[in-house]
Formats: sequence, C-alpha cells, structure tokens
Amino acid sequence: MNHQPFEGWLLDDKYLNAAEKRELDTHLRVCTHCTALVETGLALRSAQVVTPAADFTLRFQQRLAAQKIAERRHRLWGLIVLIISGVGLLGWLAAPYIYAFLSSPVEWLTASIGYFLFVFTSLQAFSEILRVLARMAPNFIPPYAWMVMLSALAGLGLIWVVSIWRFSRKPQGVTV
Ligand SMILES: [Zn+2]
Repeated sequence: MNHQPFEGWLLDDKYLNAAEKRELDTHLRVCTHCTALVETGLALRSAQVVTPAADFTLRFQQRLAAQKIAERRHRLWGLIVLIISGVGLLGWLAAPYIYAFLSSPVEWLTASIGYFLFVFTSLQAFSEILRVLARMAPNFIPPYAWMVMLSALAGLGLIWVVSIWRFSRKPQGVTV
C-alpha cells in the first residue's frame, strides 16, 4: 500500500486543509500503519500536555523559595540565640567590673588609667628589648625563627600583663 503523502503529513505534523483532511480520513479507514502513526502522535502530544514543564518549574521554584525562607528563618533564630547568649555571657563576665565602676567610678578610672599607662610603658620596654635583639641578631637566623621568637615573646608579655592586672585588681576587690 502507498502511504504517501499521508505518512509524511503525519510525521511532519503538517497543517492540513479540509480536502487533505478528507483524503487522510479515507486512507486511515483502510490503513492500520498510518492509524498507528496518528495514535502515536496523539499519545506524544498528550504526554507533552500532561507534563507541563512551566508548571513543574514554577512549583519547584516555589518549593525552593519556601525552603530558602525557612532556612533563613532558622539561621536568623540561630543568630538571635547566639547574640543573646553572647550578650548574656559578656554581661556576666563584665558585671563585676560594671559593679566596681558604678560603686566607685573615680577609683575605677584612676585604676584603669594606671593600668593602661602600665601596659603602654610595658609595651615600650618590650619594643626596646626587641629592637636591641634585632640589632644584635645575626643575619643567618631565618625569618620563620624570628616569627616563632616574636610570637613567644608576645605570648609571654600578654601573660605577664594579665597576671599583673589580676594582682593589681585583688586589693581593690576587697575595698569594694
Ligand atoms: Zn497508510
């Protein structure tokens, strides 16, 4: 049986005028091959209608947006909890100092000024020592050794400053 031009029309999904439609209908009544082609085409087209890409994408985006909002809310709550606990901890740590300041502001101020002056002069002394060491240092000491030495000195200095700060705070705590 000759399937042309009907097979070509069906495969190309050609737009048919009234006369062509009538010709095709007559052919389809006697031809199972072309009828099968028509059914396949219909099935494919209906399958395309069943899975609307745009709708799926839209729903997917909506779900994604909702998820993002939920995630952002979680992160915001986490941040709020973190800030509250951080402020609470800071307040708990600073409470004795705030109390000391409120009970005797002048003493506290003089103590702080004295402390900062002490730190400043200590740092000056440290830098003086470092300068002397640097002048004495032979050039063959590699840079990383210098970094290790400097960080060790800085750590020792910090420990010293903190220990003296604590020591100087103790008698004040008794008077307050
Ligand atoms: Zn046919």
